[in-house]
Amino acid sequence: MKQHSVYNPATNEIVKTVDFTTEEEANKKIEKAHEAFLSWRELDAHDRSARLLKWYQLIDEHKEELAELITLENGKPYKEALGEVAYANSYIQWYEAEAKRVYGSTIPANNPNKKIITDKFPVGVVGAITPWNFPAAMIARKMAPALAAGCTIVCKPALETPLTTIRMVELAHEAGIPEDAIQYVILSGRDAGRIFTESPIVQKITFTGSTPVGKSLIKASADTVKNVTMELGGLAPVIVHKDADLELAVNQTIATKFRNSGQTCISANRIFVHQDIEEEYARLLTEKVHALKVGNGLEEDVDMGPLINEQAVEKVIDHIEDAIENGGETSQPIDQLKIGGNFLKPVVIRNANLDMKVMHEETFGPIAAIMTYDDLDEIIEVANDTEYGLAAYFFTNDYRTGFNIYNKLDYGVIGWNDGAPSAAHAPFGGFKESGYGREGGIEGIEPYLETKYLSIGNI
Ligand code: NAP
Repeated sequence: MKQHSVYNPATNEIVKTVDFTTEEEANKKIEKAHEAFLSWRELDAHDRSARLLKWYQLIDEHKEELAELITLENGKPYKEALGEVAYANSYIQWYEAEAKRVYGSTIPANNPNKKIITDKFPVGVVGAITPWNFPAAMIARKMAPALAAGCTIVCKPALETPLTTIRMVELAHEAGIPEDAIQYVILSGRDAGRIFTESPIVQKITFTGSTPVGKSLIKASADTVKNVTMELGGLAPVIVHKDADLELAVNQTIATKFRNSGQTCISANRIFVHQDIEEEYARLLTEKVHALKVGNGLEEDVDMGPLINEQAVEKVIDHIEDAIENGGETSQPIDQLKIGGNFLKPVVIRNANLDMKVMHEETFGPIAAIMTYDDLDEIIEVANDTEYGLAAYFFTNDYRTGFNIYNKLDYGVIGWNDGAPSAAHAPFGGFKESGYGREGGIEGIEPYLETKYLSIGNI
């Protein structure tokens, strides 16, 4: 049996070794998921909901264990990992309730002898592929609505972080969700993508990850016309206007920028600050950023863990070097940022400009690059001038300015004086090449449902 080792990014030691799934086993799991679908969809919604509620309770009871697993395989600080478990579980709680609210409708007919009814049905077997940056949350956002809708699901977690998924699936089984209704496979993304997209049984692909991989999955899904949901990359702008509350703007920038060492799809990548307040904003931000304690996430009081691996460190260093070459000023010398292993100190870069990579490419690391602006409308255009459209943030205390910015930003998730907009009860997803479909909110169950329409005649 081929084995896969999961490494701790803080120590580069093996956390655990797991068996790879063979192609034959993966296809068998998909077949079993289909058999399970035929009975899971027949359960009444209240019964499905009760099992999801039990799963929510079990995850809550095991939150410390799950948080430790997340820290071990992903590296984020333990307190942040505990927050992720609660956040992931909030999706299970939300969709446990939504399972009972999948409503149909009646439509006035154009003939007194007719009656028209619409109803919602689960799409079928779902193949899910997720990244390593939120090992619990990214998978919960898919598993919970899929199961609530009456679908069954086969999940492929990132190879860096499969252990959290494995434990969550075990807890789901313990909660009474049938073993074949929720399963995982340990496969490379390339193999899982091929097996899911080529399978005539899999009706839906739901993917969270990078835009290039998302595009390849959309193309591969075309042959069997699969229903797809895509949660892809971002390049979030932050606009700090001259009337903003600076203390609030700085604290919220840190929340969006340095959580998970900057490795989130809604991380601020480009910070645009009005020229009148840039000096004070940069001073405050630098002071707080330099106070962040970097270390092994299992140690007390650590604010920022390691990056996921060596390649991630190299990519961030490349963005910093490129910024310096293009006239950027770093808040600490670049040769002092690498502090061994996958650890990197956070840094503020002033004097950023549009020639820099950090203004065009998703960095996925702890750099806060600040560019000044004078004209608000011009900077909104700059903020929109990207193929991405996931999250954007702005800070202003004037409601006219705020609604003006909100209306003009081409983004799916917008934080106004808020650096942490994501929530289970709200629809999360992007415009443009950041994907399509939404996760969370009443919208998040729709991608797992088909509408069926019944026309009754001659009544
Ligand atoms: P990634 O390289 O696209 O990997 C994500 C997942 O896709 C992993 O499970 C990976 O498997 C798999 N994969 C890789 N190549 C594949 C292929 N050819 N076909 C099918 N699956 C494949 O992205 P990442 O670096 O892990 O994650 C970071 C990206 O995710 C960023 O762009 C970030 O913005 C995005 N993201 C978006 C959201 C959102 O909600 N919009 C949330 C979080 C992250 P392996 O195990 O083989 O790597």
